[in-house]
Amino acid sequence: MENQGLLKHNGLVIKTSYFNVAHNVWGKKLGIVNIYMIASSTDFGQWVLVDAGMRGYHNEIIDMAEQLFGDYPPAAIILTHGHFDHVGCLKVLLEKWDVPVYAHQAELPYLTGRTYYPSPDPSVGGGLLSLLSFTFPSKPIDLGSKIHALTHDGMVPFLPEWEMLFTPGHTPGHISLYRDDDKVLIAGDAFVTTKQESIIFALTQWKHLSGPPKYFTPDWISAAQSVRNLANLQPATAATGHGLPMSGEELETNLTYLASHFEELAVPKHGKYVPINSNTIQHRKAGKARLINSVCGITLFALAAYTSFLVLDNFTGMRNES
Ligand SMILES: [Zn+2]
Ligand SMILES: [Zn+2]
Repeated sequence: MENQGLLKHNGLVIKTSYFNVAHNVWGKKLGIVNIYMIASSTDFGQWVLVDAGMRGYHNEIIDMAEQLFGDYPPAAIILTHGHFDHVGCLKVLLEKWDVPVYAHQAELPYLTGRTYYPSPDPSVGGGLLSLLSFTFPSKPIDLGSKIHALTHDGMVPFLPEWEMLFTPGHTPGHISLYRDDDKVLIAGDAFVTTKQESIIFALTQWKHLSGPPKYFTPDWISAAQSVRNLANLQPATAATGHGLPMSGEELETNLTYLASHFEELAVPKHGKYVPINSNTIQHRKAGKARLINSVCGITLFALAAYTSFLVLDNFTGMRNES
């Protein structure tokens, strides 16, 4: 399903293949993932591309850029994180646009070919995309000298009205972008507005505010804190890596509920990256106690039986002797 928006140009209303998120912010769904374009409020021709979709969709990204900005290339490409579905078109786009790419310092090992992402966990989430996630590449892309670290002061290159928020958990260097003036949030995969584990939700983008995609999230403690930090901002609009933008009361209600029930709603009940929480510890302690009790019980029973045998043996021996 293609999302369409409307563009007014010289009095004409043109149907577009992208959607409007907020003033100077547009998005486009490419397969199962979104990319965004943000124009500077001070200079419309100065714009950045946020994320680079799945491999093979570069013409769609270039078409959207040309519809919005004509021949102006982006000033930079900013990555919320480096998962394969957010960097797939980068190499082809960088052949056309000789521009810098920015990401958080902690994400650079995964963008310079040095470190593999932890492998996906197909056992969590329950949907077909989760089950297929074992096929998703965790191999890092190598952007060489093109990749630059975002500065720690939260400034976003070329977009002075935006700030970078460090939102780790889904990946170690995951970031979100936030414009405080109208409370617009580009959340990447810190949380998403569809149930990304399900292929039907991922393709149709049925709305369902969820935590980060379960199969690809290795640090649930940081992920929970990141969602709580974002919810505290009370964003008016959120555009995420997967799913349609959400805004107003719908966003406020769902994001507040997700933040306060994160462990119950977002964290898988089992899986190789599920943290050991107090319930797990209690469960394990109870199991250990049961085991110790059983061993003690069997030992005592064996001792009692052996003592009885000795007494009985002694008694029968005495009787035989008498
Ligand atoms: Zn991701
Ligand atoms: Zn994603």
